[in-house]
Amino acid sequence: MSIIYTPQQYALPDKAMENFIDTDEINGFLKEFENPTEEQVDEVIAKSLNKQRLNLQETAILVNASSPEMVSKIKAAAKQLKEQVYGKRIVLFAPLYIGNLCINDCTYCGFRSTNKKQERLTLGKQDIVDQVIALEDTGHKRLILVYGEHPRYDAKFIAETVKVVYDVKHENGEIRRVNINAAPLEIEGFKTVKEAGIGTYQIFQETYHRETYAKVHKSGTKKHFDWRVTGLDRAQEAGIDDVGIGALMGLYDWRFEMLGLVRHVNHFEAVYNVGPHTISFPRIQSASGFEVDKRYDVSDEEFTRLVAILRLAVPYTGLILTAREPEHIRNEIMEYGISQIDGGTNIEMKGYTSHKEQQDLDHEQFEISDNRSLNEVMEELVGNGYIPSFCTACYRLNRTGEHFMEFSVPGFIKRFCQPNAMLTLAEYLEDYAPGETKDKGYHLIKENLENYEDERFKDKLIERLERIKKGDRDLYF
Ligand code: SAM
Ligand code: SF4
Repeated sequence: MSIIYTPQQYALPDKAMENFIDTDEINGFLKEFENPTEEQVDEVIAKSLNKQRLNLQETAILVNASSPEMVSKIKAAAKQLKEQVYGKRIVLFAPLYIGNLCINDCTYCGFRSTNKKQERLTLGKQDIVDQVIALEDTGHKRLILVYGEHPRYDAKFIAETVKVVYDVKHENGEIRRVNINAAPLEIEGFKTVKEAGIGTYQIFQETYHRETYAKVHKSGTKKHFDWRVTGLDRAQEAGIDDVGIGALMGLYDWRFEMLGLVRHVNHFEAVYNVGPHTISFPRIQSASGFEVDKRYDVSDEEFTRLVAILRLAVPYTGLILTAREPEHIRNEIMEYGISQIDGGTNIEMKGYTSHKEQQDLDHEQFEISDNRSLNEVMEELVGNGYIPSFCTACYRLNRTGEHFMEFSVPGFIKRFCQPNAMLTLAEYLEDYAPGETKDKGYHLIKENLENYEDERFKDKLIERLERIKKGDRDLYF
């Protein structure tokens, strides 16, 4: 099917008819809790440490809590919650840009239609194969495919590219989970993409502030706020129950965006009984022909706070951090709540095979700040005691959506995700790691095994780790 965009005519699914992003409501809460007291902040933190999701009022209290004492309490609580729920596991993925044709004119994006300097390219089948082999050869197992918005990139095209990726097997390498970051589709389109076996479908709202949204999305389908904000409702209607939301930080006041994100989460929980799988909150970067407007700049201090607050507001939602952020910021906020990062990222079209030292913004979407190789990232994670994970077990065992949330089962992460992280780390160490990383990685696995409480499970895990050393692959719980 081809995309025939009809956002104005499109009838929203009944359940999503209400306007769930209400600007006045959000502004009202931000004003009402403009100057929170210590007691209010403590109360909200206590609720969150009890692993309950926060409502808009409570989130407003945290985003307005700005004294150094309150901020340190928030960060300390986020750290504690992250330890409790997620342990030391960090999931790794890489983005793969499939095509940069675009009909929209998002002022901040290098791919915008009016940017005549951008060289346009759509990866053909062989190009995709080449990129995926290059990614598999570094050890990646999880990709997110990224597309501009264009009639050529319709649901059928997206589904075909997903299949091409899954079919690439190089030596011990394979991609076991393909996520998507693309424009919102109609329900039928989402069904087509689902059939290709995708993991998460991500759509970022960019800004939940309607006025700002209208200013930065002047033309093209994306200018319709409601079409976009209900995109993932249509995905749900089509049976995609694993979705990711996001806001582009720096377009408008980050405090407002935080309440917008939490409202979006509440909406999913209320209507579909399951929140989004992940939230992204990229800080806007310079792009070809675009300089960041400093008015809504999110400083490093605010950004680190923002992550800690999100961790507390939605204890059970995965938080994604990308290579847009420099290494030192990535390291700090991983402690507060990040559960997924990208590694060895290259966002240039065909970038994984071109091995250029420098970014060329006329070939890519925006500037990145962390261009370390996957192994450099792995080595640092392991050195800091994190267990990097390439695990894809839940998605492949159909443990998704309402029927299954990693977190709805008490202790699930420690029981399943942690050992699965160790198994995928062992695969990486065997197949891709240089000697030094291998030693450090196995040392970390050994340390974690020593502290393993569940003896029966520990025996099974040790047995599987041995099998991996002998050449077995793709073992999981
Ligand atoms: N074209 C689709 C869309 O707009 O949803 C999907 C892909 S778009 C290439 C992916 C995301 O990149 C956007 O949702 C936006 O949040 C982010 N992005 C665009 N320009 C950016 C910039 N200058 N800095 C950081 N992130 C940016
Ligand atoms: Fe196109 Fe997406 Fe970039 Fe907007 S953000 S110009 S829709 S690629």
